[in-house]
Amino acid sequence: LIRIEGLRKRFGANEVLKGVSFEVARGEAICIIGPSGSGKSTILRCINALVPFEAGSIHVGETDVGDPRLDKIALRRRVGMVFQQYNLFPHRTALQNVMMAPIQVLKQDRREVEARARALMAKVRLEGKEDAYPGELSGGQQQRVAIARSLCMQPEVMLFDEVTAALDPETVKEVLVTIRDLVEEGMTCLLVTHEMAFARDVADHVYFTDSGVIVEHGAPDALFTAPRHERTRAFLERVL
Ligand code: ATP
Ligand code: MG
Repeated sequence: LIRIEGLRKRFGANEVLKGVSFEVARGEAICIIGPSGSGKSTILRCINALVPFEAGSIHVGETDVGDPRLDKIALRRRVGMVFQQYNLFPHRTALQNVMMAPIQVLKQDRREVEARARALMAKVRLEGKEDAYPGELSGGQQQRVAIARSLCMQPEVMLFDEVTAALDPETVKEVLVTIRDLVEEGMTCLLVTHEMAFARDVADHVYFTDSGVIVEHGAPDALFTAPRHERTRAFLERVL
């Protein structure tokens, strides 16, 4: 579903991605791990056409993300993204936040969107919180609203960028459970995470990045228990 070949990206003189290649098949859960500044977020931002890239190619299905005529709105409809900062509209209820984009951007029928939004609130285990305002919800609850909001656009693939990094330890788990539910239902997911136990649990495949390259990748059990590269070993020693 996602195919990346030789992706290169620089910010000024800083070469952030130095030829990154990988694929995500439909229904797979892929985790990207690696030290701060290694380019993980940049990979996700390139996939969603939030930043341009200089060389290489990204395909989402048949769509060529590097094509200058790319329809970014159509791409982002198919590729949902959730960030560390959930950025809910504070003066709208949880349900209204979830419903907003399909109605305003896709001009979909309000009643259909509302039914879908209510089902998604239940799916992220927030039944009963539909009418709460973001300020009345915990960080973990707000992040689950943000996930439901993204799902309400009915994407084919979801990108998660350290979605638990800003949360209290007690609420991290409920967000991870929500993501695991999605993975188990067969949603294609590409996750940047520093939750190593979670990566090991849900990922079909793990990529370790450092300084803009994929140093190694493999099945989670193999990568976490028997890393082949010194850089991977050193990183895992620091974080495990
Ligand atoms: P972290 O784990 O801290 O989130 P990361 O692996 O996600 O790190 P990126 O955010 O992709 O790393 O950043 C990679 C490099 O690109 C860093 O050196 C960063 O300073 C630089 N960078 C990222 N975004 C920009 C930008 N908009 N302008 C200039 N430099 C940027
Ligand atoms: Mg990042």
